[in-house]
Amino acid sequence: MTSLVAERQLFIGNHWRDSSDGGVISIVQPASGTTMGTVASATRDDVDMAVSAAHRAFADWSQSASETRAHALDAIADHLEGRRAELVERTARNNGKPIAEAEADLDDAVACYRYYGRLAADGLPTVPVEAPAGCSVRKERLPLGVAALIVPWNFPLTTAAWKVAPALAAGCTVVLKASEVTPFAELALGSAALAAKLPEGVVNIVVGGPECGAHLTQHALVGKISFTGSNTVGERVMRAAAERAVPVTLELGGKSPIIVCADVDLDWAADIVAGSIFTNCGQVCSATSRLVVEADIAEALHSRLVARAEALVMGDPLDRSTTLGPLTSAAQLAKVEQYFAIAAEEGLRRLTGGTRVSGPGQFVTPTIYADVPPTSRLWREEIFGPVLVTARFSFTAEALALAQDTSFGLGATVLCGDGERAARMAAALRAGNVWVNTGQVVFPGGSWGGFGASGFGRELGLAGLEAFTSVRQTLAPSQWTAPRPSSRP
Ligand code: NAD
Repeated sequence: MTSLVAERQLFIGNHWRDSSDGGVISIVQPASGTTMGTVASATRDDVDMAVSAAHRAFADWSQSASETRAHALDAIADHLEGRRAELVERTARNNGKPIAEAEADLDDAVACYRYYGRLAADGLPTVPVEAPAGCSVRKERLPLGVAALIVPWNFPLTTAAWKVAPALAAGCTVVLKASEVTPFAELALGSAALAAKLPEGVVNIVVGGPECGAHLTQHALVGKISFTGSNTVGERVMRAAAERAVPVTLELGGKSPIIVCADVDLDWAADIVAGSIFTNCGQVCSATSRLVVEADIAEALHSRLVARAEALVMGDPLDRSTTLGPLTSAAQLAKVEQYFAIAAEEGLRRLTGGTRVSGPGQFVTPTIYADVPPTSRLWREEIFGPVLVTARFSFTAEALALAQDTSFGLGATVLCGDGERAARMAAALRAGNVWVNTGQVVFPGGSWGGFGASGFGRELGLAGLEAFTSVRQTLAPSQWTAPRPSSRP
């Protein structure tokens, strides 16, 4: 039985520890506003200790056999899976997400550890090379060292898995900085590391806010930074990485479009549009928060979307009848309410929602604003809440112009009965993930990342593992033999 006290501390060098100054962070349950308990809050000294532990462990872990890494990743997956009900409950309570979504979060994380376990079993991929005449050349991938992994609060188990699993598979050791808002599920990774018998220092977990994160990104012994979060913080992380030329992966925000053509089944389309903005209360980086709908069906689709929004059931995330949770943090609630006020100032046409729900918890009503001009702040800025804005188009080029009218490039969806037209639209969209006639399917062997302001670098798949490596090329004459050591003193 894992000690719940342990999983409220920092995990450094295979030991659970209190913060060096005894500081704690109080964690709030967003559905009730009550506290869920406290976790240790990492100081700069704690971060230093975690990075040092990871640095000491790197020499051996980077040389470990591929089977060792594969076995460890599988054992982490086994541990998380074995505690499924408990970790799902923790995620649902800490994030406020409905229990079915918390289950998906855990299942996705487990699948990710298993996937990278399989990749690790194959060893690091070699890089094909055409050698110059008379030479033998070998190119190989080497792990980058201590990986600083910084994650947000919206999918704690999954975003951590997308970084921890490929980093370990590549031979990096890690310091994971869990979000100060939702650390409870990720802290179980410490117990998973112990269960997997990982050597001391291979996995370290600290919890803290901006100061803790900033100190980690500036640490001289960090060899790779992988960051998922907002654009504002991403810019700071990139500056820190630039100071020491540390490779960095940035998974940032989005304002993704969903184009719906007139020839689709309206109920099918409404389900996909609603699911892609109201899941996790809209706190999804790839949420398709801008609907671009063909004019002929705009009214009919709007009315179906309003019906779906108003049918969502808000309540206790652990109650299976709940289909819309609260916003996860008080700061996020304040931000969404600010956009309700901006919408009122801008005179946007509200079809439904736009209010905070009175009573305990950080609930807002699912919201739709129709025929929003592209100059509106609600059209241009990431809200990260259950807020959909819509615009109409009359011809394909207009749909694409509206969809592409953004600095972001994370996701995009096309729903269209005409396969050829759908393919043409998909080919014109500049986004890291384009979904055609489907909801947002994400899988470990796939690819995740953005264009433009949504960041750069890719997670998942082989690219996700390669991001934790760099290439060493060794060249020698084909016939070369080492000169004999000189006999002279
Ligand atoms: P955030 O940027 O406020 O925080 C992200 C993480 O960075 C947290 O762990 C935070 O403690 C840490 N941090 C804060 N200041 C730091 C600093 N100066 N240096 C280093 N770390 C620091 O983001 P958030 O509010 O937690 O998450 C929401 C944002 O994340 C949204 O913009 C969303 O689009 C984005 N996101 C992107 C993806 C993706 O895959 N592209 C996935 C999930 C979330």
